[in-house]
Amino acid sequence: MTFTTPIEEIPKVGPAFAKRFKQLKIRTLGDLVFYFPRDYQDLSKISKIKDVKINENICVHGKILEIGQERSWRKKMAITKAVVQDDTGSIEVIWFNQPFLIRNLKKDEELMLAGKTVVRDDHLYLSSPTYEKISIQETTHMGRVVPIYPETRGVSSRLIRYILKPALTVIKNKIPETLPQKIREEYGLIDLKDAIYEIHFPSSLEIAKKARERFSFENIFYIALFGAKKKIDFQKEKAPAIPINETLIERFLRSLPFKLTKGQMDSATQILKDMERPFPMNRLLQGDVGSGKTVVSVIASINAIKNKNQVVLMAPTEILAKQHFKTFFQLLKDFNINIGFLTGKEDKYYSKKLKTDTIEISRERMLKKTQEGDIDLLIGTQALIAPKKKTLNQSASRTVQGKKKTKVLFKNLGLVIVDEQHRFGVTQRAALCGKQSDKIPHLLSMTATPIPRTLALTIWGDLDLSIIKEMPQGRKKIITKIATEEDRPETYKFIKEEINKGRQAFVICPRIEAADEENENALDVKAVKEEYEKLSKEIFPDLKIGMLHGKMTPKEKEKTMKDFKNKKFDLLVSTSVVEVGIDVPNATVMMIEGADRFGLAQLHQFRGRVGRSEYQSYCFLLTDSAGLNTKERLKAMIKYDSGFELSEMDLKIRGPGDFVGVRQWGLPDFAMSALKEPKLIERTKKTAEDILTESPDLSAYPILKARLEIFEERIHLE
Ligand code: ADP
Ligand code: MG
Repeated sequence: MTFTTPIEEIPKVGPAFAKRFKQLKIRTLGDLVFYFPRDYQDLSKISKIKDVKINENICVHGKILEIGQERSWRKKMAITKAVVQDDTGSIEVIWFNQPFLIRNLKKDEELMLAGKTVVRDDHLYLSSPTYEKISIQETTHMGRVVPIYPETRGVSSRLIRYILKPALTVIKNKIPETLPQKIREEYGLIDLKDAIYEIHFPSSLEIAKKARERFSFENIFYIALFGAKKKIDFQKEKAPAIPINETLIERFLRSLPFKLTKGQMDSATQILKDMERPFPMNRLLQGDVGSGKTVVSVIASINAIKNKNQVVLMAPTEILAKQHFKTFFQLLKDFNINIGFLTGKEDKYYSKKLKTDTIEISRERMLKKTQEGDIDLLIGTQALIAPKKKTLNQSASRTVQGKKKTKVLFKNLGLVIVDEQHRFGVTQRAALCGKQSDKIPHLLSMTATPIPRTLALTIWGDLDLSIIKEMPQGRKKIITKIATEEDRPETYKFIKEEINKGRQAFVICPRIEAADEENENALDVKAVKEEYEKLSKEIFPDLKIGMLHGKMTPKEKEKTMKDFKNKKFDLLVSTSVVEVGIDVPNATVMMIEGADRFGLAQLHQFRGRVGRSEYQSYCFLLTDSAGLNTKERLKAMIKYDSGFELSEMDLKIRGPGDFVGVRQWGLPDFAMSALKEPKLIERTKKTAEDILTESPDLSAYPILKARLEIFEERIHLE
């Protein structure tokens, strides 16, 4: 047997069991081995029968003195009774409705029993215990620390133990180590073969912890290695080296109606320096909504364009693309630059060195001009640029279907800017350039989704990070309040007043917990519909109210947002789908129902939908949870107005599971919690980098290399 042995070939696994395992995606012995327990039950303590008390969960070890079965006269249920004795005394045992027991258990048999003691008809019984017969081998299900697995119908923890333990015993010593010894020593990690055995069948809870530690490390280490390796591979690619034109940039800065913040300045410098190098930049610019990322990307663009490079900017939705088009057009008016706007719809603008206005041209002409290099800067949605890529915004690609999927080709694309899209790889960039070029463009990604720095550096290890921490001066702070059920009428009254003043408001419905994502979405939609009914019929019958949720098509969503922006509604009720980055300056109230059910970073995102104009804005966090923790957590929203601080707190309190990009790695829960430890993350990253410095192609570490390839494949499959 090896890890690749098909599940049905493992001893004791027949076709029926194999089928059940496959439902858990366990197809090979290896899959089963890496199906880790979610918890343990410590059944290692064996009680002496004479010490047994009522209402105790116990494990005893003895011999069957007598055993018999009767039927309850009313329900015809099998009742099996036995007496079990050890050196110290005897205890009665009772099982209900397990008629087969009488065939399995015989007088004089030695066994262990684990269960709860109860009193029935004045007798002390061990009630329906699980049992295990004692053979020469050590026990599996009791008398030790016992693994508890994520179970499903037909696959119990007991079944997994029953199959896995003998198989593991056979292959244990054939499992090769994957981590280099010096790393294991440095981190005090136990051997892989021991870790695998002990994570399932630990000799103590302490050793189970050690085993988990080893796998936590290993998981994070592979993520770090994956990122670091990808980064090195990027650096082998060629990109246009773009010198920094200082005069130009100074002129541009002077043309702005404001002074850049320090964060903007630093980020711009980092970006320009990256692009001076002959290999592709891969940088993520993070900054809260309104921190001014756009102007930083304009600086990168103008420098690239004036060095004879084309630039393309992609936004996740059409409204955002248009917003960008307007901004770029406005800021670059005096710089003699041709800007195109291209989406799946009929909008085609072309600002032709005219200082005044845009004109429309056909899609065909736009494509031609782009290919000839006449368009310096092309702005649009991503779908147009790589319509077939599955990783891209699926919604957007739908609008393209049915039309001619003419690919946009560039003459000399030097910079790709993507807004709110972190995963955009070398292959996609290469596809943009067409085959004729041996160079691939630089990449600048931008996001307003705050993520703690160490976490970002791990899960996006191939990216460099620039952060804009501060907001431009003169922004009005959003007034945030925690509100309970009692404050509700007053809150509605306040919303009404704001709307009467001509403002608009958002109401976010709570997230509904459900067993699976699909279901959750459906429940969320139900919640939003109910809220919509309530608000439009009872609370605000005279207001115009709109609704937004995840079951709407992207087109419908976009239309609703547009309508809201154009003041067709006073109030928008929404699930958490409310679009990132959308600008409705006239909205001044954000009311969040069930605020305790959201992460702080996400609450902060919602709050960022308001406060985008000269009007004072407000955020109400509704909660009916009296938990002390809840209050503390929500109070952080009042105290901090930076997404970064809030996301750090989220990481500490809720763990990394809520952050974008984390789930993709498919980490076991215990490794997820290791992602909370910045020190461990940093050291792990450093170790990965050291290994790659020593052996950039990992040829000195063949096993590590092979493991990484498997890991990589898994990531790509998902
Ligand atoms: P985001 O980071 O959310 O993309 P934007 O780039 O859209 O933010 O900027 C938000 C607003 O702030 C814009 O109207 C922009 O002109 C303005 N802005 C950007 N930088 C500054 C600054 N340094 N001082 C004042 N206003 C600024
Ligand atoms: Mg933006």
